[in-house]
Amino acid sequence: MYTSTSTCRACEHDGLLEILALGEMPLSNGLLSESQLTQKELKVPLTLVFCPACSLVQIRETVAPEILFSPEYPYFSSVSDAWVAHCRDNALELIETRKLGPSSRVIEIASNDGYLLRNYAERVIPVLGIDPASGPAAVARRNGIPTREQFFGRDMAEALAAEGVGADVIHANNVLAHVADLTGVVDGIRILLNDDGVAVIEAPYVRDLIDHCEFDTIYHEHLCYFSVTAISRLMARHGLVLTDVRRLATHGGSLRLYVQRRGNPSEAVERLLQEEQELGVDRAGFYRDFAVRVRLIQSTLRELLESLKERGQRIAGYAVSAKGAILLNSSGIDGRLIDYVVDRSPYKQGKAMPGVHLRVYDPARLLETPTPDYLLLLAWNFKDEIMEQQTEYRKRGGKFIVPIPVPTIVADTRA
Ligand SMILES: [Zn+2]
Repeated sequence: MYTSTSTCRACEHDGLLEILALGEMPLSNGLLSESQLTQKELKVPLTLVFCPACSLVQIRETVAPEILFSPEYPYFSSVSDAWVAHCRDNALELIETRKLGPSSRVIEIASNDGYLLRNYAERVIPVLGIDPASGPAAVARRNGIPTREQFFGRDMAEALAAEGVGADVIHANNVLAHVADLTGVVDGIRILLNDDGVAVIEAPYVRDLIDHCEFDTIYHEHLCYFSVTAISRLMARHGLVLTDVRRLATHGGSLRLYVQRRGNPSEAVERLLQEEQELGVDRAGFYRDFAVRVRLIQSTLRELLESLKERGQRIAGYAVSAKGAILLNSSGIDGRLIDYVVDRSPYKQGKAMPGVHLRVYDPARLLETPTPDYLLLLAWNFKDEIMEQQTEYRKRGGKFIVPIPVPTIVADTRA
């Protein structure tokens, strides 16, 4: 079901240092159906470690991808408006700056239901999606986005190259952090990139994770947590150059990395490398007090919910995310403190959250009597969007709890 490694996923150094042990956690995206609720649930240790050799932060455990990304994998990215807009802006900028047209090709690894590639296809730029999850891949094909239902790696890239397929742009959004075969995927990117092509990779920034204590972004799907230092070393080992980088606010703080077969690191790359060295992101000391800060957030949040519950307040959770599953399970927050959770995705409604087994309902339930007094935002990275959507709930006096970086109650002043 899973393996636990003592060697680095990027450089194979033996001697990883432990940063945080979250204990045995359920699979954070594994929503449970009625029949699954009666079976024993898989729980796997979740341990964050640091490689002193190449400075890559990673988890020790690897759950078999067939188990993690089952055909029922529920994450359809198009559900979030903000994320769809973020991807469209990125695509439009690349079409402009790379002068893409009908003779170009854009490939996306982990293309989901095609929400990103659609922006190119609509402008008659040839695209190819790659995604092992059959549900989203079928939706993509129905929408006219050619999609191969496969795990991407060196072998697949070689097979595509043999067919004459190369890429002017390769998108890999929040995928590099998720693959067990990290070196195979990086090699695959190099194989498919045309000489002047660019891979645009987005991954959460480990510096933001540590600074803002976003421990709930650590889960089994998420194997690596990149710094600019770690990614630049990884690419160099595979004959690629990190030519540019941008810091983004998405997912609690991410990096957009531009990787090419040749070129030189931009000023932005050099500046971030310098900053990381000054902060010590590339050394173990930077991560030393993280576990203590995490325990403090967990106990503060649990005590806040307990005190509200003692006063007879009703509490629901909003947005069933992997983050939410880790936050609740690792903090010991379950049905005793939260009444139920809601999510806009029809794929999630009617199921139960892993571990804590909270039921998932349509957000319309928030407006049924009795309206919850508090809504715990489990997808705090979309907190503004969610609070905006919940106009009616706000008008009725509903308050929000933002759990991270410090558990905080937000009462609406506009209503
Ligand atoms: Zn390493």
